[in-house]
Formats: sequence, C-alpha cells, structure tokens
Amino acid sequence: MDLLFLGTGAGIPAKLRNVTSIALKMLEERKTIWLFDCGEATQHQILHTSLKPRKIEKIFITHLHGDHIYGLPGLLGSRSFQAGHSELTVYGPKGIKEYIDVSLKVSETHLQYPLVIEEFKEGIVFEDDQFVVEAAVLEHGIHSFGYRITEKDRKGTLDVDKLRNDGIMPGPIYAKLKSGETVQLEDGRIINGNDYVGPDQKGKIITILGDTRYCENARNLAQNADVLVHEATFSAENEELAFDYFHSTTKQAATIASEANVRTLCLTHISSRYGKDDWPQLVKEAEKVFPNSLIAHDFMEIKIK
Ligand SMILES: [Zn+2]
Ligand SMILES: [Zn+2]
Repeated sequence: MDLLFLGTGAGIPAKLRNVTSIALKMLEERKTIWLFDCGEATQHQILHTSLKPRKIEKIFITHLHGDHIYGLPGLLGSRSFQAGHSELTVYGPKGIKEYIDVSLKVSETHLQYPLVIEEFKEGIVFEDDQFVVEAAVLEHGIHSFGYRITEKDRKGTLDVDKLRNDGIMPGPIYAKLKSGETVQLEDGRIINGNDYVGPDQKGKIITILGDTRYCENARNLAQNADVLVHEATFSAENEELAFDYFHSTTKQAATIASEANVRTLCLTHISSRYGKDDWPQLVKEAEKVFPNSLIAHDFMEIKIK
C-alpha cells in the first residue's frame, strides 16, 4: 500500500500546495484506490500522477468544509468519461448526500456507474474480509471525522521449498495445505498444512484525520498505527491561533503521534502563510517531540511497510 498526497494545503489552493486529498493506493491488495477528501482541482492533480479515476473504489470524506469537498462533483462526473463503470461508494458525514445529489442534478450530470452515498455517524464505516474502517468525531468548527483503516492479518505464505524437500510436488494439494487442511498423500503419508505455512502476516494500520484541534479521539484512532496523517495547520508557536480556528500545530500533531505510539507521522494541511523556506522548521518542531516525522508535499508518496 502507498499513500499519495494529492493536496496538502489548508483552506485555499496555493501554487505549491493544493487543497486536501490523499490517495491510498491498494493496487496489490485489491486493485483499487481509496481517496480521502477531494478538495477543489483534485482531478487536475490526478492528471500529474499515474492514478486512474476508474480505479477509485471508495471516497471517504472527513468533513464538509469546501477545501475538502469542492472537487468531488467534478471528479465523479469525469470518472464517467474515463471508462469508470464499476460501483463507487462515497462515505461522509450527514449532508454529503444532499451536496452530491444537488450538484449532479442541477448540472445534469448523469453518471455511467452506480454511485452509493453512505452517511455515517461514528463507529465501523466499512468492513470486508480484508479491511475494517472506523471513524470517530474530532474537534473542529463543524463535524469532522478521523478514519482508522485496519488491514486484517493475512495467512502466512506456503513454504514451497520445504514441501519440495519433503517430496510433495506442486498441484491442487498446495491450495489445501495453504488453507491449513490436513491431507493424505498417495503414498499414505498424512500431512498437516499448518506445518508448511509461515506465521500470519500482520495487517497494516493507517490513520487519516480530518481537520481538528488536539483531541483525545485523534489519539484513540492513531493507537499503534503504522502511519498517522495529522493536520498541522499552524507552527508550534501559534497554539492560540490553532485553538481559535479549531486546528492543530506541528507540536500537537507530534504529541498525538508520540502518545499513540505510531510508527510514522505525516504532517499535512499546512497553512499557506508558511512558504517553502519555513517547511524545514515545521518538521523540526515535530521531530523534537516525535523523531519519525515527515511533512507532506503535493505528490509525495510513501510506502507503508
Ligand atoms: Zn481544511
Ligand atoms: Zn475544516
């Protein structure tokens, strides 16, 4: 899985930072892409990447501020013209359905694929045999959510070398052994699949938060995550401003990362008051509290190891 930052700025588009959108690329895991937020011109940003809109399977919206949703109707419409025929689900807080429905209706946009819109409150938003996505409300001027994406543990890999050494050659039997079945070979030997399968592979945890003040639910959602994406609209010295505008500072984001014992912190939603020359200083502020901190920039991609 990879995280690709399509927009990393706060509030209004800037030359070096477009407004928020993040793609979680799961091309190996499920051959699809999940998008988190869709600020204005997200589809323009996508044009500079290898992402295919038709591969977008789900869009998770954190909150309804314009810098997180103004790109949505355009992207949904364009997906129809780009061979997008598979179902797409949008998850978001109450109001997202009305916003999408009205935008598509008045512009007479007719989608060529099934669109499902799910408004949720809190708790489990989505679950299948591979992933579970949970949401919890944060502290912002309007209802803003954070998401915790947990990949379920995967069965270990089949030790083919060991099988061959024991004289068990490839065939349909391998699938049975991989699923842990006990089978009898033609020579009469009884083989237990579990003896040939490695330990379960631990699933990854990714936490992507919407706009928020420093708050407890941010910490809960981030617990032991492999990657935490936390907004850092302001520098450490602007704590009061951050509080007044319902945002966080670099230091507060790093404090959450440290308290929640995450592996990597990625700061985003950076105010345009900070120019390129200020960015190294912003990371330093976070690193003082949590050494493994990064500051996102548009088109930055990180591998989730
Ligand atoms: Zn915002
Ligand atoms: Zn906001």
